[in-house]
Amino acid sequence: MRGVKKANLPTKICLHCGRDFAWRKKWARDWDHVQYCSDACRKGRPVPVPLPVQNAKSILPKPKGVGSSY
Ligand SMILES: [Zn+2]
Repeated sequence: MRGVKKANLPTKICLHCGRDFAWRKKWARDWDHVQYCSDACRKGRPVPVPLPVQNAKSILPKPKGVGSSY
């Protein structure tokens, strides 16, 4: 019967980072209002999303001199 507890925990989707997170004891009184997985997300901090930086550069091939020569 191991793992049953975890499976029974309700989950929600974080409004900020979009990841699902499980119920926590500290949210016992507030679960209905919990919308974010962490304080960081609730404060709206930028999520460290593993963006493919190299791909982004290849998508937007900008010469480095454009901005500085302005
Ligand atoms: Zn989050």
